[in-house]
Amino acid sequence: MTDILSLIRQVPNYPKEGILFYDITTALEDPIGLKTIMDTFIAQFKDQKIDKVIGTEARGFIFAPTLAYALGAGFVPVRKPNKLPSVTIGVNYALEYGTDRLEIHADAIQAGERVLIVDDLLATGGTAHAVTQLVSQLGGETVGFGFLLELDGLGGREKLAGFDCYSMITVP
Ligand code: IMP
Repeated sequence: MTDILSLIRQVPNYPKEGILFYDITTALEDPIGLKTIMDTFIAQFKDQKIDKVIGTEARGFIFAPTLAYALGAGFVPVRKPNKLPSVTIGVNYALEYGTDRLEIHADAIQAGERVLIVDDLLATGGTAHAVTQLVSQLGGETVGFGFLLELDGLGGREKLAGFDCYSMITVP
C-alpha cells in the first residue's frame, strides 16, 4: 500500500508555537494517495450497513460525502454554530482552553439509523465524542468512527472506548 503518512506534510509551530500540524492536503493532491485513502475507508466500512455518514467541519467534509456515496448511505454535515439554516440541536464540549460547540440539523438522523462518524484526525477525542452525543440525542446509533490519522497518547481512543474506532494511520 502507498505510504500515506509520507504524503502528509508536517508543519511545525502551526497554528501556534509548539504544535506539529499534520497537513493532509498534500496527500489529497496526490492522485494515488487520494485513491488509496478513499478505497481503504470504503473497504473498512462496506459491510456495516451504514445509513448515514457524518463529516465534521471542516476536514471531515473532505472524506464523508465520497464515502457515503460509495456505501450507498446519506451524508450529514456537523457544523460550527449558526451555520446550518434549519432547526438544529447542539452540544458544547471542552477544548484545552475554553469550550466549543457543534450543531446538526434536528431532522438529519432518524431514530435507529446506523451512523458512521468521519474526520481527518483523532487527537484527544473531544470533537468525535461530541458528535456521537448529537447522534444519540437524535436516536441514532453510532456504528463507528473513521479517521485518517490518529495521534497516539492523547487519550482519544480511550475517550471513544466502547465504539469501533478505525484509524488508517497511527503516529506516536
Ligand atoms: P480532538 O478533538 O482533540 O480529537 O481533535 C481533533 C480535531 O482537531 C479534528 O477535527 C481535527 O481536524 C483537528 N486537528 C487537530 N490537530 C490537527 C492536525 O495536526 N491536523 C489536522 N487537524 C487537526
